[in-house]
Amino acid sequence: TYGYKELSMPPDANGGFKLEKNALHIWPRRSFMMIALPNADGTFTCTLFWPFTGPNSFDSLKTEAEVKQFFDETFPDAVPLMPDLVKEFMENPVGPLVTVRCSPYYSGDRAVLIGDACHAVVPFYGQGMNAAFEDCTYLNQALQEKGSIAEAFKTFGDERHEHANALADLALHNFVEMRDNVGSQGFLLKKGFERILTRLFPRSFTPLYTMVSFSRIPYADARRKAAKQDRLVLQIGVILVMIFALLVFLFVR
Ligand SMILES: Cc1cc2nc3c(=O)[nH]c(=O)nc-3n(C[C@H](O)[C@H](O)[C@H](O)COP(=O)(O)OP(=O)(O)OC[C@H]3O[C@@H](n4cnc5c(N)ncnc54)[C@H](O)[C@@H]3O)c2cc1C
Repeated sequence: TYGYKELSMPPDANGGFKLEKNALHIWPRRSFMMIALPNADGTFTCTLFWPFTGPNSFDSLKTEAEVKQFFDETFPDAVPLMPDLVKEFMENPVGPLVTVRCSPYYSGDRAVLIGDACHAVVPFYGQGMNAAFEDCTYLNQALQEKGSIAEAFKTFGDERHEHANALADLALHNFVEMRDNVGSQGFLLKKGFERILTRLFPRSFTPLYTMVSFSRIPYADARRKAAKQDRLVLQIGVILVMIFALLVFLFVR
C-alpha cells in the first residue's frame, strides 16, 4: 500500500515561482511519482507517493545519505530546487492514502454522513474536498425539497452513493494514469486527439478530466459519458489508421 510525504520547494531569490505556476507538475516513475502544486506565496508543495514498505519504498531509506542518493538518481532536476529536501524528508510524516466506501450514509432522521466520513478518496483527482462541498449542496437541496428529515437523508444518501463510489474508482485509476501513462506516447497521442475533438465538437465531446474537474456533471454520469466517448475515439482512430494504410498501399503500388 502507498503513503505520501509532503516536501517543499521555496520561491526563487526574487520571490517568484521556480516552475511554471499554472501547471500540475508530475515526475512519473511508473510504480510511484512525485508531484508539485503551486501555492499563493510562490512556493510549491511537492508530494512523493510511494509504497510504505518493500525494496523501493519509504521504509527503504534510513539515512540522510540514502535520501540524498535516491533523489539525486530519481528526480535530478528537482533536487537543486528543493534546498531543505533531506531535512524535510527525515522529519515529515508519511500519511496514509485511504478509500472509504460505506452504505447507507444515514440512520433514519437521526444522523447522516457527508464528506470523507462516508467517501474518503485517494487524492489523485483533487476532488475529495469538492465532493464534500457538493454533498452540502445536495443535502441542502434535499432538506428544502423533501417533506421530512428522514426522507431528505435517504434521498441524499441513496443518490450520492453511486457518484461517490464512481469518484473513488476514478481517483484510483488516475494514480495509474499520473504515475505511469502520462509518460507514454500512446497516452499523449490520445490526449492530443481528445483536444482536437473538443475543439471541433465542443457541445458533444468533453474529456473526462474536464467533466470531473470543471463541471457539475455527477461523477458516475461523467464516467458513463467518457466510456462512450472513448469507444468513439477508438473507432475513429481505427478508421483513420485504415484510411492511412489504404493510401500508403495505393501510393506504393
Ligand atoms: C494529500 C492530500 C491531498 C488532497 N488534495 C485535494 C485536492 O487537491 N482537492 C480536493 O478537493 N481535495 C483534496 N484532498 C481531500 C480533502 O482534504 C478531503 O476530502 C476533505 O478535507 C474532506 O473534508 P471533511 O470535512 O469531510 O473531512 P476533514 O477535512 O477530515 O475534517 C474532519 C474534521 O473532523 C475532526 N474530527 C475527527 N474526529 C473528531 C472527533 N471525534 N471530534 C471532533 N472533531 C473530530 C478532524 O480533526 C477534522 O478537522 C486531499 C487529501 C489528501 C490527503
